[in-house]
Amino acid sequence: MASFIPEEKISEIKNAADIVDVVSESVLLKKAGKNFTGLCPFHSEKTPSFTVSPDKQIFHCFGCNTGGNVFSFVMKQEGLGFPEAARRLAKRYGVELPNKALSAEQKKKISQREHLFDLNRRAANFYHGALLKSPAAQKARAYLIQRGFSKDTIESFKLGFALDGWDHLLRYLSQKRISTLLLEKSGLILPRKNRSGYYDRFRNRIIFPIFDVNSQIIGFGGRVLDDTLPKYLNSPETMIYNKRRSLYGIHRAKDKCRASGTVLIVEGYLDLLALHQHGIENAVATLGTALTADQIKVLKRHAGQMVLVYDSDEAGIRSAKRCIETFWEEHVDFRREDVFREEKADTRILVLPAGHDPDSYIQENGSEAFLNLASNAAGIITFLMECAIREHGLTTEGKIRVISELQKPLAAVNDQVARSIYIQQVAERVGVSEAAVMERVRALGAIQYQQRGPTTRSPSGTDGHDSVLTRSDTADGLLTDGDSRFERRIIAMMLQFPDILPEINSLNVLEYFENDYLKSVAEMIVNLNPTTTEQISELICGIEDDGQQAMVAALALEDESWNKSGCLKLLRTYVDNRQQVRSNEWLEKQIMAAEKNNDQDLLITLLSQKQKLAERREKQKMALLGDK
Ligand SMILES: [Zn+2]
Repeated sequence: MASFIPEEKISEIKNAADIVDVVSESVLLKKAGKNFTGLCPFHSEKTPSFTVSPDKQIFHCFGCNTGGNVFSFVMKQEGLGFPEAARRLAKRYGVELPNKALSAEQKKKISQREHLFDLNRRAANFYHGALLKSPAAQKARAYLIQRGFSKDTIESFKLGFALDGWDHLLRYLSQKRISTLLLEKSGLILPRKNRSGYYDRFRNRIIFPIFDVNSQIIGFGGRVLDDTLPKYLNSPETMIYNKRRSLYGIHRAKDKCRASGTVLIVEGYLDLLALHQHGIENAVATLGTALTADQIKVLKRHAGQMVLVYDSDEAGIRSAKRCIETFWEEHVDFRREDVFREEKADTRILVLPAGHDPDSYIQENGSEAFLNLASNAAGIITFLMECAIREHGLTTEGKIRVISELQKPLAAVNDQVARSIYIQQVAERVGVSEAAVMERVRALGAIQYQQRGPTTRSPSGTDGHDSVLTRSDTADGLLTDGDSRFERRIIAMMLQFPDILPEINSLNVLEYFENDYLKSVAEMIVNLNPTTTEQISELICGIEDDGQQAMVAALALEDESWNKSGCLKLLRTYVDNRQQVRSNEWLEKQIMAAEKNNDQDLLITLLSQKQKLAERREKQKMALLGDK
């Protein structure tokens, strides 16, 4: 992502910017020892758990596990990508960003993107002008007025009209000396079948320009006024338009979403416009696709609660199920790194009363009634449960069906506490024992973990506080609670006591990492090879993944006093332990083979080796325990 701004410029910005200064603009900070604390801007809280370290130039919230450096802060706070956040900071601190340092390839890419934005802007103006003035757009104007859209709404979303005809836009933009090649890249025109020239993609349709979060036009949607099919037509994906990431209305909604903490997600352009028209501006539309993981990521930057709005149960169920799949997929990483086990995205499903869409509902009942429905919308699990009960009833047969339908959604709930609450609710509502529901969920959970491969671990499931911040790691815990906890401790050591890095290399510690996610973080640290803890903010610059950024910030903010001999002991124990685990796995395989071949002699040798290994491990564990 950072490729458009040269590395040395990033360092320059980083050196010039002061995180305390930047954060202070939006958060009231108080000095607390070496650090500053304040109320977190990313989740709502009453006691401050948001910490900023001026020495390390990083921040971390111990409440919602958000963290990073000055760039990540601006990205999260403003909902920007890395280059935009860097540009903003550069401007603020007077760092000049020359475009000269870019490679020819990068320059070409940037200029193409800029040309596409510019082209889209011109096209949008052309369509908008036609809608407002052209006599041929009279029926479009009438349609929008009849839908109740004000001039303000039409203006601020820059609605337009593509006149009936094959080449209105093509001719207009060609006159402006825009190349047909660029026009074709934008998807606004298509080549004729016989390859003799081009024609307009959008004809005789109302045009909805699609804006990105920075209010640049990335694509278009078009709707017919009659019964022609397809009813809706969208731009194809281009260099600047990625459907899986785009949300209609995000440019207008982001501030309102942050203010209210909630985002309403509707299905189409007109639903969205209707909400805006009635003063409900914290809303976006997904444009006919199911909510994707990328869209969820974008929305999470702006609001903690999402309400998906649907016209029917059927659409709601379909979407709730897809949502669960999406969360399930997206949280694979969080499962592996159980510290950050869940970004709390509170997702709800609102199904409007039969026969209503958002527009008609608000027309009839007012926006307050609509908001009321939204704030009482059911969570995904509750929604699916009520739907299943409605469908199958609560006869014995029905109960069995209801539980089996809920099995997968429940297994997909990542948070242990939340899951047990849901299980309790389901058990009560359906009238079966909690244990029975739990059993079904566990059975499915186990199968799914297995399918996801051996390095994926189940959430430890013991207590909710098993985090890197717990310092009471017992030797027993370190050796038995999976390797991730041990591996996290090693990363913390690397960050807080960089003197140990040569030993990490010479002992080949990273080679033994089982958790790929943690391994990639550790490798990044080794590659950057920081010599002082002040370089952590620099390290964070090199990390694109939000979860990894937050983890590095959290681990680096701990202040533990490390010493070399203690570190070495921990590292050796880890390596030793991993080697033993590997030998043990190897032995087990040999034993199975020997059993299969009925090779009694070999079997006895192998079993005694296994026994010795187990004794050694036990001794080591005791030694480590005695040490504490
Ligand atoms: Zn927070």
